[in-house]
Amino acid sequence: MGDEHVGSSTDTPLRPDAFELSDIEKIDRIKGQVKEIMETLGLDLEDDSLKGTPTRVAKMFVNEIFGGLHPDRKPSASTFENKYKYGEILVEKNITLYSTCEHHLLPIVGKAHVAYISKGTVVGLSKMNRIVDYYAKRPQVQERLTMQIVKELQAVLGTQDVACVIDAKHLCVNSRGIRDIDSSTVTSEFGGKFKDPAVRREFLDYINLDTEF
Ligand SMILES: [Zn+2]
Repeated sequence: MGDEHVGSSTDTPLRPDAFELSDIEKIDRIKGQVKEIMETLGLDLEDDSLKGTPTRVAKMFVNEIFGGLHPDRKPSASTFENKYKYGEILVEKNITLYSTCEHHLLPIVGKAHVAYISKGTVVGLSKMNRIVDYYAKRPQVQERLTMQIVKELQAVLGTQDVACVIDAKHLCVNSRGIRDIDSSTVTSEFGGKFKDPAVRREFLDYINLDTEF
Protein backbone atom coordinates (compact mmCIF):
# COMPACT_ATOMS: atom_id res chain seq x y z
CA MET A 1 0.00 0.00 0.00
CA GLY A 2 1.63 3.27 1.09
CA ASP A 3 2.52 5.49 -1.83
CA GLU A 4 1.76 2.68 -4.23
CA HIS A 5 -1.86 2.55 -3.10
CA VAL A 6 -4.20 2.76 -6.05
CA GLY A 7 -7.86 3.02 -5.11
CA SER A 8 -10.81 2.22 -7.33
CA SER A 9 -11.02 4.46 -10.36
CA THR A 10 -13.34 6.94 -8.65
CA ASP A 11 -11.60 7.17 -5.28
CA THR A 12 -9.21 10.01 -4.52
CA PRO A 13 -5.79 8.39 -4.08
CA LEU A 14 -5.22 8.75 -0.34
CA ARG A 15 -2.68 6.94 1.81
CA PRO A 16 -4.03 4.77 4.63
CA ASP A 17 -2.43 7.13 7.16
CA ALA A 18 -4.07 10.21 5.60
CA PHE A 19 -5.85 11.24 8.82
CA GLU A 20 -3.34 10.25 11.46
CA LEU A 21 -2.35 13.88 11.87
CA SER A 22 -5.02 16.22 13.19
CA ASP A 23 -6.00 19.26 11.13
CA ILE A 24 -4.08 21.45 13.57
CA GLU A 25 -0.95 19.32 13.19
CA LYS A 26 -1.31 19.46 9.41
CA ILE A 27 -1.65 23.24 9.39
CA ASP A 28 1.42 23.53 11.58
CA ARG A 29 3.48 21.29 9.30
CA ILE A 30 2.27 22.85 6.01
CA LYS A 31 2.97 26.32 7.39
CA GLY A 32 6.66 25.40 7.65
CA GLN A 33 6.66 23.78 4.22
CA VAL A 34 5.11 26.82 2.50
CA LYS A 35 7.61 29.05 4.30
CA GLU A 36 10.40 26.88 2.93
CA ILE A 37 9.10 27.13 -0.66
CA MET A 38 8.87 30.90 -0.37
CA GLU A 39 12.35 31.13 1.11
CA THR A 40 13.74 28.89 -1.63
CA LEU A 41 12.24 31.31 -4.14
CA GLY A 42 14.24 34.02 -2.44
CA LEU A 43 11.35 35.85 -0.80
CA ASP A 44 11.93 37.83 2.38
CA LEU A 45 9.55 36.36 4.95
CA GLU A 46 10.31 39.24 7.30
CA ASP A 47 8.42 41.53 4.96
CA ASP A 48 5.10 42.67 6.44
CA SER A 49 3.13 41.62 3.40
CA LEU A 50 4.60 38.09 3.25
CA LYS A 51 4.92 37.27 6.93
CA GLY A 52 1.44 35.85 7.33
CA THR A 53 1.32 33.95 4.04
CA PRO A 54 2.56 30.52 5.22
CA THR A 55 -0.07 30.35 7.98
CA ARG A 56 -2.77 31.71 5.70
CA VAL A 57 -2.00 29.16 2.96
CA ALA A 58 -1.75 26.26 5.42
CA LYS A 59 -5.17 27.06 6.93
CA MET A 60 -6.67 27.52 3.48
CA PHE A 61 -5.33 24.13 2.28
CA VAL A 62 -6.53 22.15 5.28
CA ASN A 63 -9.81 23.91 6.12
CA GLU A 64 -10.98 25.19 2.77
CA ILE A 65 -9.70 24.22 -0.67
CA PHE A 66 -8.64 20.68 0.37
CA GLY A 67 -11.13 20.42 3.24
CA GLY A 68 -13.16 17.86 1.28
CA LEU A 69 -10.44 15.25 1.76
CA HIS A 70 -11.64 14.73 5.30
CA PRO A 71 -14.57 12.29 5.60
CA ASP A 72 -15.80 14.23 8.66
CA ARG A 73 -16.75 17.08 6.33
CA LYS A 74 -18.95 14.93 4.11
CA PRO A 75 -22.48 16.40 4.03
CA SER A 76 -24.90 14.42 6.20
CA ALA A 77 -27.06 11.97 4.28
CA SER A 78 -30.51 13.14 5.39
CA THR A 79 -33.20 12.20 2.88
CA PHE A 80 -36.95 12.55 2.72
CA GLU A 81 -39.79 10.44 1.47
CA ASN A 82 -41.04 11.46 -1.98
CA LYS A 83 -44.57 12.22 -0.67
CA TYR A 84 -45.86 13.97 -3.79
CA LYS A 85 -44.75 10.99 -5.93
CA TYR A 86 -42.90 13.26 -8.33
CA GLY A 87 -41.45 10.82 -10.84
CA GLU A 88 -39.81 13.05 -13.43
CA ILE A 89 -36.29 14.39 -13.68
CA LEU A 90 -35.16 16.89 -11.07
CA VAL A 91 -32.24 19.07 -12.17
CA GLU A 92 -30.12 21.29 -9.98
CA LYS A 93 -28.28 23.35 -12.55
CA ASN A 94 -25.57 25.99 -12.57
CA ILE A 95 -24.04 24.89 -9.28
CA THR A 96 -20.95 27.05 -8.90
CA LEU A 97 -17.88 24.90 -8.65
CA TYR A 98 -14.45 25.77 -7.34
CA SER A 99 -11.92 22.97 -7.32
CA THR A 100 -8.18 22.50 -7.67
CA CYS A 101 -6.35 20.66 -10.43
CA GLU A 102 -4.24 17.97 -8.80
CA HIS A 103 -1.55 18.15 -11.49
CA HIS A 104 -0.72 21.83 -11.01
CA LEU A 105 -2.58 22.83 -7.84
CA LEU A 106 -4.27 25.61 -9.80
CA PRO A 107 -7.98 26.46 -9.68
CA ILE A 108 -10.73 24.77 -11.65
CA VAL A 109 -13.73 27.11 -11.92
CA GLY A 110 -17.01 26.13 -13.46
CA LYS A 111 -20.59 24.96 -13.21
CA ALA A 112 -21.98 21.57 -12.28
CA HIS A 113 -25.42 20.35 -13.31
CA VAL A 114 -26.83 17.44 -11.34
CA ALA A 115 -30.01 15.47 -11.94
CA TYR A 116 -31.87 12.51 -10.52
CA ILE A 117 -35.08 10.59 -10.86
CA SER A 118 -36.48 9.63 -7.45
CA LYS A 119 -37.09 6.02 -6.53
CA GLY A 120 -39.07 7.02 -3.43
CA THR A 121 -36.40 9.12 -1.76
CA VAL A 122 -35.62 12.79 -2.27
CA VAL A 123 -32.94 15.10 -0.89
CA GLY A 124 -33.03 18.79 -0.01
CA LEU A 125 -31.99 20.78 -3.07
CA SER A 126 -29.00 22.35 -1.34
CA LYS A 127 -27.73 18.84 -0.57
CA MET A 128 -26.67 18.55 -4.21
CA ASN A 129 -24.75 21.81 -3.98
CA ARG A 130 -23.08 20.58 -0.80
CA ILE A 131 -22.08 17.26 -2.34
CA VAL A 132 -20.58 19.06 -5.35
CA ASP A 133 -18.70 21.40 -3.02
CA TYR A 134 -17.42 18.59 -0.79
CA TYR A 135 -15.86 16.60 -3.63
CA ALA A 136 -14.64 19.78 -5.35
CA LYS A 137 -12.62 20.69 -2.27
CA ARG A 138 -9.90 18.18 -3.04
CA PRO A 139 -7.03 18.01 -5.45
CA GLN A 140 -9.04 16.80 -8.42
CA VAL A 141 -9.25 15.72 -12.00
CA GLN A 142 -12.57 16.74 -13.49
CA GLU A 143 -13.48 13.24 -14.66
CA ARG A 144 -13.10 11.83 -11.16
CA LEU A 145 -15.00 14.73 -9.59
CA THR A 146 -17.93 14.11 -11.95
CA MET A 147 -18.00 10.41 -11.08
CA GLN A 148 -17.65 10.97 -7.33
CA ILE A 149 -20.64 13.32 -7.30
CA VAL A 150 -22.80 10.78 -9.15
CA LYS A 151 -21.64 7.86 -7.00
CA GLU A 152 -22.39 9.73 -3.77
CA LEU A 153 -25.86 10.81 -4.88
CA GLN A 154 -26.62 7.29 -6.06
CA ALA A 155 -25.74 6.02 -2.58
CA VAL A 156 -27.73 8.74 -0.79
CA LEU A 157 -30.82 8.37 -2.99
CA GLY A 158 -30.71 4.60 -3.38
CA THR A 159 -31.01 4.74 -7.16
CA GLN A 160 -28.70 4.51 -10.15
CA ASP A 161 -30.73 7.22 -11.91
CA VAL A 162 -28.35 10.11 -11.31
CA ALA A 163 -26.45 12.26 -13.80
CA CYS A 164 -23.89 15.04 -13.64
CA VAL A 165 -22.37 17.36 -16.24
CA ILE A 166 -19.52 19.69 -15.38
CA ASP A 167 -18.31 22.54 -17.58
CA ALA A 168 -15.19 24.13 -16.14
CA LYS A 169 -12.15 26.21 -16.87
CA HIS A 170 -8.79 24.93 -15.71
CA LEU A 171 -6.43 27.75 -14.86
CA CYS A 172 -3.49 25.46 -15.66
CA VAL A 173 -4.70 25.62 -19.28
CA ASN A 174 -6.12 29.14 -19.28
CA SER A 175 -3.40 31.08 -17.45
CA ARG A 176 -0.16 29.18 -18.15
CA GLY A 177 1.23 26.59 -20.56
CA ILE A 178 -0.86 26.88 -23.73
CA ARG A 179 -2.71 29.92 -22.22
CA ASP A 180 -5.96 29.26 -23.98
CA ILE A 181 -8.31 31.55 -22.05
CA ASP A 182 -11.40 30.49 -23.98
CA SER A 183 -11.34 26.73 -23.71
CA SER A 184 -13.35 24.86 -21.10
CA THR A 185 -13.63 21.18 -20.28
CA VAL A 186 -16.92 19.29 -20.26
CA THR A 187 -17.33 15.95 -18.49
CA SER A 188 -20.43 13.88 -17.87
CA GLU A 189 -21.54 10.79 -16.03
CA PHE A 190 -24.91 9.22 -16.74
CA GLY A 191 -26.24 6.53 -14.42
CA GLY A 192 -29.26 4.22 -14.79
CA LYS A 193 -32.13 5.75 -16.78
CA PHE A 194 -29.90 8.60 -17.91
CA LYS A 195 -28.14 6.16 -20.21
CA ASP A 196 -31.35 6.19 -22.27
CA PRO A 197 -30.76 8.75 -25.07
CA ALA A 198 -34.22 10.36 -24.64
CA VAL A 199 -33.80 10.86 -20.87
CA ARG A 200 -30.28 12.13 -21.40
CA ARG A 201 -31.56 14.55 -24.07
CA GLU A 202 -34.23 15.88 -21.71
CA PHE A 203 -31.63 16.50 -18.99
CA LEU A 204 -29.32 18.29 -21.40
CA ASP A 205 -32.21 20.41 -22.70
CA TYR A 206 -32.97 21.55 -19.14
CA ILE A 207 -29.34 22.51 -18.65
CA ASN A 208 -29.53 24.59 -21.79
CA LEU A 209 -32.59 26.50 -20.60
CA ASP A 210 -31.68 30.16 -20.54
CA THR A 211 -32.42 30.85 -16.87
CA GLU A 212 -32.77 34.52 -16.04
CA PHE A 213 -34.65 36.00 -13.12
ZN1 LIG B 1 -3.63 21.16 -14.33
